[in-house]
Amino acid sequence: MKRIAVFCGSSIGFNTIYALEAKKLGYYLAQKNIGLVFGGGKIGLMGTIADAVLEKNGEVIGVIPDLLRHEEVAHTKITRMLVTRKMSKRKVKMSKLVDGYIAMAGGFGTLDEIFEALTLGQLGIEHKPVGILNTNGYFDHTLKQLDVMVDEGFLKQINKDMLIISSSFENLIKKMQNYQAPKISKVVNTVATK
Ligand code: AMP
Repeated sequence: MKRIAVFCGSSIGFNTIYALEAKKLGYYLAQKNIGLVFGGGKIGLMGTIADAVLEKNGEVIGVIPDLLRHEEVAHTKITRMLVTRKMSKRKVKMSKLVDGYIAMAGGFGTLDEIFEALTLGQLGIEHKPVGILNTNGYFDHTLKQLDVMVDEGFLKQINKDMLIISSSFENLIKKMQNYQAPKISKVVNTVATK
């Protein structure tokens, strides 16, 4: 994989474990020559991971909507910053740049971005690996909700299984590198069956 989009919090969280993991992931990406594509902010875990990649001379591409750039939160030291007119255009731009997606701890923005990536996979529009870095069991409850969605017939197991999960980023990226997208029928796809 040449580049990975990492979606993560614009906050830092209360437990330092998240920032520490963001930093380690950033170092690892640089070491493996995998470029980071991210939301372009200098705040929260986003800023932490970008700084870590830069510290090890890796590639960092930010994709930021004009609106957020003017909030004075745009990272100014990254390799390249792409500015989009709208939030929705940012996702399209990001998807063109990357070979896969990772979410780590974050809030609404992070969930929105990772679920959009999964939806693109579910519809067969994209075939890229989507991973969750489950540091400190942060996503345990979110993942339980996905089981409820399968059990209640709103999510197909095959689509849920597209999601790659690990609490170790080395393991997560290895699994992502070996990912084979399922063959999905676009027509029956929206109907969940047991
Ligand atoms: P959240 O998880 O709600 O903190 O939002 C984080 C995600 O939303 C990131 O992956 C970014 O793409 C985007 N985002 C939220 N706030 C900002 C910001 N101030 N600057 C750039 N991107 C942001």
